[in-house]
Amino acid sequence: MTKLSTLVTLRQRSLCAIFTEDQKDTSVELAFKYAVYRINKDKDLLPNTTLVYDIQYVPRDDSFRTSKKACRQMEFGVQAIFGPSDPVLGAHIQSICEALDVPHLEARIDFEPFSKELSINLHPSQELMNKAFRDLMTYLNWTKVAIIYEEDYGIPFLGGNNFFPCDLQYSNLLSFAHGLFKLQELVKAPDSAKTEMYIRQAGPTSYRQVLREVRHKEIFKLIVDTNPRHIHHFFRAILQLQMNDYRYHYMFTTFDLETLDLEDFKYNSVNITSFRIVDVDNKKVQDTLGIMENFQPIGHAILNRSGVIQAEPALIFDSVYVFAKGLSAMESGHTIKPTNLSCDLEKPWDDGLSLYNYIDAVAGLQGLTGNIEFNEGKRSNFKMDLLKLKKEEIKKVGHWTSSGGINITDPNAFYEKNTPNITLVVMTREEKPYVMVKKDTNLTGNARFEGFCIDLLKSIAGQVQFDYVIRLVPDHMYGVYDPETKEWNGIVKELKEKRADLAVASMTINYARESVIDFTKPFMNLGIGILFKMPTSQPTRLFSFMNPLAIEIWLYVLAAYMLVSFTLFVMARFSPYEWNNPHPCHQDSDVVENQFSVSNSFWFITGTFLRQGSGLNPKATSTRIVGGIWWFFTLIIISSYTANLAAFLTVERMITPIETAQDLADQTEISYGTLEGGSTMTFFRDSKIEIYQKMWRIMENRLPSVFVSTYEEGIQKVLEGNYAFLMESTMIDYAVQRDCNLTQIGGLLDSKGYGIATPKGSPWRDKISLAILELQEKGVIQILYDRWWKNTGDVCTRDDKSKESKANALGVENIGGVFVVLLCGLALAILVAILEFCWNSKKNAQTDRQSLCSEMAEELRFAVRCHGSRQRPALRRSCTRCSPATTYVPAALDLPHLNGDGLVLPMTDLKKSPINYEIDT
Ligand code: ASP
Repeated sequence: MTKLSTLVTLRQRSLCAIFTEDQKDTSVELAFKYAVYRINKDKDLLPNTTLVYDIQYVPRDDSFRTSKKACRQMEFGVQAIFGPSDPVLGAHIQSICEALDVPHLEARIDFEPFSKELSINLHPSQELMNKAFRDLMTYLNWTKVAIIYEEDYGIPFLGGNNFFPCDLQYSNLLSFAHGLFKLQELVKAPDSAKTEMYIRQAGPTSYRQVLREVRHKEIFKLIVDTNPRHIHHFFRAILQLQMNDYRYHYMFTTFDLETLDLEDFKYNSVNITSFRIVDVDNKKVQDTLGIMENFQPIGHAILNRSGVIQAEPALIFDSVYVFAKGLSAMESGHTIKPTNLSCDLEKPWDDGLSLYNYIDAVAGLQGLTGNIEFNEGKRSNFKMDLLKLKKEEIKKVGHWTSSGGINITDPNAFYEKNTPNITLVVMTREEKPYVMVKKDTNLTGNARFEGFCIDLLKSIAGQVQFDYVIRLVPDHMYGVYDPETKEWNGIVKELKEKRADLAVASMTINYARESVIDFTKPFMNLGIGILFKMPTSQPTRLFSFMNPLAIEIWLYVLAAYMLVSFTLFVMARFSPYEWNNPHPCHQDSDVVENQFSVSNSFWFITGTFLRQGSGLNPKATSTRIVGGIWWFFTLIIISSYTANLAAFLTVERMITPIETAQDLADQTEISYGTLEGGSTMTFFRDSKIEIYQKMWRIMENRLPSVFVSTYEEGIQKVLEGNYAFLMESTMIDYAVQRDCNLTQIGGLLDSKGYGIATPKGSPWRDKISLAILELQEKGVIQILYDRWWKNTGDVCTRDDKSKESKANALGVENIGGVFVVLLCGLALAILVAILEFCWNSKKNAQTDRQSLCSEMAEELRFAVRCHGSRQRPALRRSCTRCSPATTYVPAALDLPHLNGDGLVLPMTDLKKSPINYEIDT
């Protein structure tokens, strides 16, 4: 037996402590030794008594040897046994103490509701602990709670990961297991009917799985009753599953929260609470701890580095003082006769029960664990501090007493009224210019990001009042539903599984997503467009002068030319006023001549079309109408051609092989694709419109894949050529403004918007929608758009002329009217020619005294028979020969002569308008 005291005193009292082997040299053992040392040294409790002690170390799983060691101690005449803390070993020692009437001082949680003889337990009973938890749950108004307990004492019945939904009919079953037994009172509480409880057993290997199930059930309040030695496994599982935000509240049953490393939980608003039994606010306790700090044996520590003592050593320390106080009370009135006891004889110690009663009656002792009083060996009238991890440190926010219940001294501890201090997890994806990671690698947290969405988030957070932490989505996708695996991916999955509170990104609102997550009002409107490479300039062609008029116009002009020439020829033959005397000097000559032979008609029409003279002039009204209308036609055609040619010469014509989505679908040469895992892809995949279905089939089957994982990759493919990228118009605008080699072709295929996404039923959605509308109305969103799209300094200058002024060939729709006018003119001319013909026939019929019909028939026959000159039928001479050959009056022959009207014409006039003469042989 180790003798600590070297003083010679009147009495010696022997104590025995039984510690498990793993407690050797720990703070528990040191606290015991230190308590004995202090009592012997101070002499204020036991002035005439010296305490001596013996410590026995026992294996945790060996109750036989433990009992044997206890019996040996009894033989040496011990006055009390301390420990052990193991419940199974403790139960054996308890029965020995009971048999021999030796006080048994313990500091372990006692889950048995009934009192035990000769047992003094410094640890508050499970019953009172449950009451404290219940009071706190009621105060916090918890309606859905998960209880995770650890099977730490080898109870075999509930091995594995059984799941027991809380239901009273299970209560019998629950009582079998220690963990569940401990929690039975909680479950049975009268107001627990309102509370939905999930009880789950877990150990270091199954914490993660159990926590995942709790998360899946959307339970955010947890009571955790684990072995403190395993708690770091539990913390790790919380971090791994990201169950460490403001929504989660963990209530730990350990008294030693302050001694745990909570560094990983300090900055993300997770709620952690627990009770503390050590009364650190007490001045006396502070003094004791201060002394203890200075007297710790070198190499061993009772207090941790921050001067905090754990609950168990504190309780052991107090138990020695309790014994000393009880002993002192007894010694003042009685003489204690120590006797050597024997387990074999089972003869109890005569003074044992009295000593126990004196210890049980101890009152007003202020120990490390506050006021110490007992009721049938169980701790009563004590106080526990309520601790909460708050603003990056653990703070006392209230206390609990068995008589007064819960008393919260910090009203803002759980419901922060002024500043919500809520930190939301914001999921996003890197996307220019919405979210970009800054190049500076020294930056941390939210400062690492910039972009339109980051600025928008900042404004919204300021308005709605929340803090946020930005996280990038692990798989770098917006989120699509896979019908085969029946799973979502990307941001949608993160929100669905509640790993984020918001998603602020260029996230398109669509039907499929809206059915699994919520969206706010859109902050930007857009549609799907086609990004394509700027077409190259058209190469100059030899016959590009033909371009101003469409090919059909050229054909129509040619047809008009033939038609008008022929009409002129025919009309000239029918019209009597086009037949002239080739020899005006010979008034009686019956030879007449027509200037509009076939070739002359074509020549006249050609000359006038090209704005040149032909030397021919129509004389009859009908032919003049033809000429006039033709001149009008040529005026319009030539003017239009000239004007459009000018446009064609100044405008650089671009070749765009595709103009619309239809063009894309109708060809196979140019491949096209979308971003993978986004709404654009699902637009085509789920579309019921035939052309988009066709496009989807082509995209899906094309090899190598036409889908890209980033917009940058898509743009790069477009620049490489022969690829059209189907992307959202806002992104197209950004890309096109920055690279003049890119252009958008066609219009938008649909119309939709970007919204901020939240998990289904999120309370933030409406608040954020309101904020978005306000920001829109104030023009803040437009300012942000301009900042990130236009004023970034990297916008390329585009030659707008080439894009806007596009010259097109004139078609029938442009100048078709002039052909109509021409046809009408020709019709009029034909009518007038018929009238002229009739009028002349009538006149000649009177002269020749013939019937009108025969005259007309004769004139008609004559008109169609010949071409060139003829003998007029009116003179009743037959035309012997019609010769087209003509002779012109030589210019030298400057003789005055008579014209048909008997006028003398100067020769110069004749030269100007030469008259054809026919040499009649
Ligand atoms: N913004 C789109 C989305 O939310 C991406 C895309 O598919 O173009 O999925």
